[in-house]
Amino acid sequence: MLNVTELEAYYGESIILNQVNLQVDKGQVVCLLGRNGVGKSTFLKSIMGLVATPKGSIRFDGSEMISRPSYQRARQGIGYVPQGRDIFPQLTVEENLLLGLEVSGGKGAIEQTYELFPVLKTMLKRKGGALSGGQQQQLAIARALVSKPKMLILDEPTEGIQPSVIQDIGRVIKYLKSEGDITILIVEQYLEFVTDVSDYYYVMDKGRIVLEGRVEDL
Ligand code: ATP
Ligand code: MG
Repeated sequence: MLNVTELEAYYGESIILNQVNLQVDKGQVVCLLGRNGVGKSTFLKSIMGLVATPKGSIRFDGSEMISRPSYQRARQGIGYVPQGRDIFPQLTVEENLLLGLEVSGGKGAIEQTYELFPVLKTMLKRKGGALSGGQQQQLAIARALVSKPKMLILDEPTEGIQPSVIQDIGRVIKYLKSEGDITILIVEQYLEFVTDVSDYYYVMDKGRIVLEGRVEDL
């Protein structure tokens, strides 16, 4: 589903991604681990076409992605939840969920949100600013699922979130996996969550993949 080979990215003169190889097979949940500042978010942004990748290749769902930043790429079947929460406090939960998507496509999306994230059910008319961090994260994930992506990419979904909500998010990931038609890549530092939800892991250090293996062998 996603095949990254020998990928390089730079900020100015500094090399941030150094010959990164990573693969996510269809239906798999793969985690990318690593300490702060090693390049994990930059890697996800490169997949989304938000960071230029002058060397290497990114193939998604059979096609090669262009190497220059491209707003289009984000729309091609990948749901992306960036690090931190981009919730608009002046909009309601429902408006935050749909972000301008047409209501016809939106009804199903709202039903799905009820099912996956029951906590949001009672809040659809409430403004986003009134939500807790955990509720905002669930809303951000629900939003990424609205367009029924082939792949879901999450950047540190458990960051700053209490354990009960982490479990809720884990349940959603496992449910999506059991449905079998979505492929998931998660950047994560919380090891318990990684072992709970994922099949395979990669570890990044200083822009390189330094370790990889099956999660059951961790
Ligand atoms: P964290 O775990 O803290 O989120 P990360 O592994 O996601 O870290 P990145 O955000 O990818 O790390 O950053 C990798 C390196 O690139 C860091 O040294 C960071 O300071 C640098 N960096 C990130 N964004 C930019 C930018 N827009 N311009 C210049 N340097 C950047
Ligand atoms: Mg990051």
